[in-house]
Amino acid sequence: MRLVLVGPPGAGKGTQAEFIAAHLAVPKISTGDIFRANVSQGTPLGVEARRYMDAGQLVPDEVTINMVRERLAEPDASDGFLLDGFPRTVPQANALDKLLADLGTALDLVMELVVDDDEVIRRLSGRRTCRGCGKIWHVEFDPTSRDGVCDRCGAQLFQRDDDKAETIARRLEEYAEKTAPLVDYYGAQNKLVGIDATGPVEDVTVRAIDALRSYGG
Ligand code: ADP
Ligand code: ADP
Repeated sequence: MRLVLVGPPGAGKGTQAEFIAAHLAVPKISTGDIFRANVSQGTPLGVEARRYMDAGQLVPDEVTINMVRERLAEPDASDGFLLDGFPRTVPQANALDKLLADLGTALDLVMELVVDDDEVIRRLSGRRTCRGCGKIWHVEFDPTSRDGVCDRCGAQLFQRDDDKAETIARRLEEYAEKTAPLVDYYGAQNKLVGIDATGPVEDVTVRAIDALRSYGG
């Protein structure tokens, strides 16, 4: 299955993407993770992306699209994938449609995680990520047993630079202005399914997998 997850920052895309990708046995491709890996390795792509990420803005379409084109050309993505955080603009969605059409294929489904702004702010302000295995935690909603240490791999947790209050507000504006139009874009293609992403993580996973099953996933 070729699936896209869309939703505001903090909706739980990364958290759910792990479970959904495992359920579908497809690679999880997160543009945010790829950018962050480039930032920490200091690559030219990372240096460029960082300017935008730190300001809570989207990285320019051209840079992002080229990066995704390369990633989707890797063999593990040939039979299906889960895109987390891409596309995030209508030009990116157009580019993805074209790229897949050139490969003789198309997206199967776009799942929107629906959560309101207040909840998103609570989730982002307490988000912690593991430096070792990348697992996503939350200080209040999904705490580790020892402060700052990952229960899964024992590495240290960090707080993302862009999860500060001012940057969160900017990211929510970017979402409303540039990403929310994708809901209509994919609605018009009859590919959109929205799920309620509030409540416990496991409940959201059950809703997501039920929705996928009804689309053959
Ligand atoms: P979020 O938790 O906001 O969903 P991500 O990890 O997906 O965060 O993205 C972090 C940052 O990386 C974004 O604020 C943006 O600067 C950049 N980014 C990620 N994906 C894209 C994309 N598809 N287009 C442009 N910028 C992106
Ligand atoms: P996104 O990738 O959409 O930005 P994440 O998956 O990183 O979102 O989740 C943002 C934060 O919210 C994380 O700290 C995560 O642990 C927490 N979180 C995710 N899903 C839920 C949920 N259903 N209830 C409470 N907190 C959640």
